[in-house]
Amino acid sequence: MPRSIISARQTTLRREVELAGKGVHSGAPASVVLHPAEADTGLRFLVSKRGRIIADIPADVRNVKNLTLCTVLGDDSGVSIGTVEHLLSALRGLNVDNCYIEVDSKEVPIMDGSAAEFVAAIDEVGLRELNETRRYIKVLKPVRVEEGESLGEFTPHGCFHLDVEIDFDTPLIGRQRMELDLTPQSFRTELSRARTFGFMRDVEKLWKAGLALGASLENTVAVGDDRILNTEGLRYHHEFVRHKMLDAVGDLSLAGYHILGSYRSVRGGHRLNAYVVKALLADASAWTLVQAPASRNRETNYRPMGLALAAGE
Ligand SMILES: [Zn+2]
Repeated sequence: MPRSIISARQTTLRREVELAGKGVHSGAPASVVLHPAEADTGLRFLVSKRGRIIADIPADVRNVKNLTLCTVLGDDSGVSIGTVEHLLSALRGLNVDNCYIEVDSKEVPIMDGSAAEFVAAIDEVGLRELNETRRYIKVLKPVRVEEGESLGEFTPHGCFHLDVEIDFDTPLIGRQRMELDLTPQSFRTELSRARTFGFMRDVEKLWKAGLALGASLENTVAVGDDRILNTEGLRYHHEFVRHKMLDAVGDLSLAGYHILGSYRSVRGGHRLNAYVVKALLADASAWTLVQAPASRNRETNYRPMGLALAAGE
């Protein structure tokens, strides 16, 4: 396992950074400001309306309200924030532990349909290490959720490993499977530019339902009956499964901590990802919270939180 996977300390952004775009479902303008945050804040959405913060919603699986086409988080007062997964993926993928995410709309802007512009914004301001130690959910035993032909499963593993398989009944996609150990480097090069995709045959249905009103060839790979409609073509070999991996990184960040474990998904999606995270957290014997040692010389030397605390750290 590359040592760079594990850094001992929590991070945040050096300063705030703003992005503007539009919601893929509403089609309405949306902007997001990423603010630095102190240790143990986690990733939190501050929803604003006319310049006033109306809700503070932690990116936590317990706040998931809807998973039909994107991941929607909400609070008890009815405020919600949708399409959070690509931004959360960028933050988790680049190891940003603490961030206030201020959004002035019901949706995080879709940007180019991938995490690339969020990655560029985070890179523009850079990260700051905090004094507090980063914590990880260490998977202790397999936890599996099956739903029809779909399957999602955590198994014990020394780092955060992803193994994602998709199978679409069109020769333009077909069966694609990819595995990787997630690091900021692998996230950046292998996943961050993979775009959302959609099928032309679904478009009318979605529009009638008032969804995907902001979807276009600027932010979606459009799959027709016999060809990809985007004239620029694909960005990666197997861009489709890479995007599913990007989504999974965002959805799994809703566990609230980094994960030390392998996640396998077959024909999955946001719903399944969230269910597997819930199933893992619900089984107290399946995981434990650990922190990486401050010295990085033994990357497998995770200590249970209780022991570390007893040692006075
Ligand atoms: Zn996505």
